[in-house]
Amino acid sequence: ENLYRVNRWGAGYFEIGQNGNLNITPDPSNKDIRIDFKTVIEEIKEEGIQFPVVVRFHDILRSQVALLNETFRKTVKEADYKGQYMGVYPIKVNQMREVVEEIVDAGSPFNYGLEAGSKAELLTVMAYNTNEESLTVLNGYKDKEFMRLALLGNKLGRKFIVVIEKYSELLLLVKTSKELGITPMIGVRSKMTVKGRGKWEGSGGDRAKFGLTIAEIISAARYLKENGMAECLTLLHFHIGSQLTDIRAVKEAITEGAMIYADLYNMGFKLNYVDVGGGLGIDYDGSKSTSDSSRNYSMDEYVADIVFGMKQVCDLENVPHPTLVSESGRAITAHHSCVVTQVVGEIKAYSMGIDTAPVDDEHFLLTNMRELSIEIDKQNNLQEIFNDASQFKEQGLTAFKLRVVSLEELGMIETLYWQIMVKLQKRLKEIDFVPDEMKELDYDLSSQYLCNFSVFQSAADTWAIDQVLPVIPLTRMDEKPTVNCSLVDITCDSDGKLDQFVSEHGIADIIPMHELIPGEDYYLGLFLTGAYQDVMGDMHNLFGRLNEVHIFSYDDDPEDFYIEEVVKGSSVEDVLSIMQYNPGAMAQSVKRMIDGHVSKGQLNPREGVKWTDFYENCLKGYTYLKTTD
Ligand code: PLP
Repeated sequence: ENLYRVNRWGAGYFEIGQNGNLNITPDPSNKDIRIDFKTVIEEIKEEGIQFPVVVRFHDILRSQVALLNETFRKTVKEADYKGQYMGVYPIKVNQMREVVEEIVDAGSPFNYGLEAGSKAELLTVMAYNTNEESLTVLNGYKDKEFMRLALLGNKLGRKFIVVIEKYSELLLLVKTSKELGITPMIGVRSKMTVKGRGKWEGSGGDRAKFGLTIAEIISAARYLKENGMAECLTLLHFHIGSQLTDIRAVKEAITEGAMIYADLYNMGFKLNYVDVGGGLGIDYDGSKSTSDSSRNYSMDEYVADIVFGMKQVCDLENVPHPTLVSESGRAITAHHSCVVTQVVGEIKAYSMGIDTAPVDDEHFLLTNMRELSIEIDKQNNLQEIFNDASQFKEQGLTAFKLRVVSLEELGMIETLYWQIMVKLQKRLKEIDFVPDEMKELDYDLSSQYLCNFSVFQSAADTWAIDQVLPVIPLTRMDEKPTVNCSLVDITCDSDGKLDQFVSEHGIADIIPMHELIPGEDYYLGLFLTGAYQDVMGDMHNLFGRLNEVHIFSYDDDPEDFYIEEVVKGSSVEDVLSIMQYNPGAMAQSVKRMIDGHVSKGQLNPREGVKWTDFYENCLKGYTYLKTTD
């Protein structure tokens, strides 16, 4: 467990079984339900679904929705808080229809609603938030069409709340509502002085992109009053950033928000809701710290700080406890999906050496390097060996460029250099103090496991903002992993790699994996990809969306599961069409070329037909590497 910290970031959903396979427990309160990941892989293979595959555990999604809502309900009761909790799920975090449908369904006993941040999302939530009791919160920048759609929601008796992000939106909303004769529900987003901590701290502070200043909020409230619409102002909203790493920021934001609410209330604006936005973090690296990929609090503490914090200020200010709204997306979705990929090769800097036996008239740099490779067994000054070897290698390259060292000699110098480094790495384990320069050796000598996926499609944040996501082998975890590696993807981009890993000592640039066994597939899982990663990826190198399987557990057989749905990933035709190509015309063009060769007698007709079919089948096929024939 410790090696990959599975029990730390797994949040009770993932653990390593006795047989060394990863197990999934989709309902942490019922440990009897346990799915062996290896059986999931076998079922995927049996169904003929090609890897890489996104595996969605819908039960985990449901568990998280229930957990958040139940935690709020329990805390509201404990605190004797007089308002209630009515959360909304911000669909931008994962807009996949099946995800949204599952969340709406699992959330219906709690009147859990949806949040939209754009017109396309508004059109979606309008159709999918079917529970009339729940809220629909509308954030993001808006135009007149947006306002009309929101008002249509109100006309249909739905609780659509338009959150004003900038002052001019208020004027537009008031005007449109008057034109249509529909009473709106209005929220105002406050630009908070508290800044979140972590990668998204720019969401708060004076330079925040969204929200109104205190002066603007007061003007907005007065403007509504002047227009006889004071009672339409119903919600105060704030959001100080996603993945809040430090609980202090949450406490400070709640206090600030509660005070603004209380003062507005005392000014005569009787708001019903306070929406604390998103920000509930995920412990991606299992450190439970304020590192960017973790958080120093639990969901219980987060909820307690909101409920008790709000109550305290409201009681002091003598105002009613508002209904609490939160917009957690990451916490709801992160755990439910993962990417399963196979390792399709190993890249090593020193994998293939050449014969280094002395040759006549060889260059002295080569001779020096060979002597060093012998001396290392007797010599104790490892730093000196390291320095000399590095220098000879560098000089060898310069000498090659000056044409005094031949290509063959350079190959021998390189081979000897890596042999020395491998010996050095072993000997370093014997000493206590390792100089900084040599600490890099583990990384330099590590392998790169080539994995059948695209970082840009499946783990965009690891590339864009150095987000850490846990990666582990899905089987063989009862065997000691002996190969230190980093992972590279199949895009033609050197940024297409993962080199930050969750390891037993924290974040590391290499991770121990198992030696590849020829003829045996080795599967890795990239976890906690359900929030943002699932939907933010791009088509770099025309690798499109992945095949997906949606897994449900059976109630009556705790170790069984079924694949409820398979969503086909992008075919080559699909991605080409998005780029404005016409795959049909392309197939014809290639066929014409093949036919031309056939008519000139350069290809026999049967072969011509085979090649034409082959090209067409490839167009229809999956964009990722095919690992079976
Ligand atoms: N609400 C708003 C306004 C947001 O901008 C975001 C994301 O940044 C969220 C909710 C979701 O936040 P999280 O995924 O941290 O829960």
